[in-house]
Amino acid sequence: MFSELYDEELSELQRKGDLEKVKALKGLDKSVMPSLKKRIQENDKTVLNELFLPKWISWNLLYSWAIRDLDAGEKRCALCGNASRSGNDFRLKFICEACLIEIKSR
Ligand SMILES: [Zn+2]
Repeated sequence: MFSELYDEELSELQRKGDLEKVKALKGLDKSVMPSLKKRIQENDKTVLNELFLPKWISWNLLYSWAIRDLDAGEKRCALCGNASRSGNDFRLKFICEACLIEIKSR
């Protein structure tokens, strides 16, 4: 999964003992406002103009960090069994977007 990049980078930096960078990565949750985080999740790179982040933090790394909560928020579809973020709950069962479209087109 793409969101693993953040964890990999973090453990790599910890292994190297680069505490300054570890601190910066862990501090993203505090230094990036939720509204900006949302735009990162939407892959809106203009956010970079509003963030004052160290140059070594690449877009991929930042994106990977931002989508971590999204991955955690995935639900499993009651029909197809795929994990998805977009969809709806029906009678306590989660139905993914793809299945919703399928149902509606019937
Ligand atoms: Zn489904």
